[in-house]
Amino acid sequence: MSATKDNHYGIDEVQRLGINCAQIFGTNKIQWKPREYHPLQVQTFRAVRESAIPGPIYSHGIYLINLGARDENPEIYEKSVHALAAGLKICALLRLDGLIFHLGSNYGLGLKAVLESVVVGLTRARELSECDVPLILENSAGSERVIGGRFSDFATIINELNGDSRISICIDTAHAFAFGYDLANTQGLEQLTSEIESTLGFDRIATLHLNDSKIECGGALDRHANLGEGHIGYSGLAGILNHPHLKSLPTVLETPGFDGRGPDRGNIEIMRALAGCLDDDPKILARRAKQRARYRKRRSKSKKQRS
Ligand SMILES: [Zn+2]
Repeated sequence: MSATKDNHYGIDEVQRLGINCAQIFGTNKIQWKPREYHPLQVQTFRAVRESAIPGPIYSHGIYLINLGARDENPEIYEKSVHALAAGLKICALLRLDGLIFHLGSNYGLGLKAVLESVVVGLTRARELSECDVPLILENSAGSERVIGGRFSDFATIINELNGDSRISICIDTAHAFAFGYDLANTQGLEQLTSEIESTLGFDRIATLHLNDSKIECGGALDRHANLGEGHIGYSGLAGILNHPHLKSLPTVLETPGFDGRGPDRGNIEIMRALAGCLDDDPKILARRAKQRARYRKRRSKSKKQRS
């Protein structure tokens, strides 16, 4: 969810939705310059968080970071290292549980060619940040050009960092699906989980981004859909949520929302139903969420007409 000075950096919305874990954008996702934080809002954030939100809150890093760029684009690389360090500092300030981000591109040269660039970048960002907040690497959608499309990439990187315990992994279901892990069926899920087991181990997995995908399996594009409205579908998503190694992970939604304004009550309810925590039929929950969205649209239209 978006975090601004006016909503106490997202904590108001976390409370309104009645959720116990979340992800915020600690700074503007398409700007290099980090946000300035206001001491009073930081205080409110920390106080509400400590008293009312039991689970983890993560920050998502900016979209511009590319740690594979040392040789190909040194300017972007320097900016990336500093942006990552700034992101970690923000997490330390708000006492968040980790910075989730994408590693960037290998320029079609394969992981080996950019491995040193990535490892040096991660090490320098850590030093500059002067904190031990977990860095959480997220798998990417896309072709073989992305770093971390395949989960074994992460094992290689962590190995180079001597198994640094401050690095963990986020599984994004839409990205994995678009990369080619067919999570719509049990064999695809099995392929993914056995690859994680044999390369990384499940102890490294910190969190799950549960998103459906508008793009078909292997389509290589990053397009999130509301739960059940994409190609993974209810049964694929339920398989993920109930998998013995994944079911206890903190789960974050990055869905467009039934009224197009981001993760909403409808998607949260559907997720809970698919996980077996709510008795309702997800199809009925989706229908209700759409009705609510239509009602809100009509109401804001008539408000506009009156004013
Ligand atoms: Zn994600």
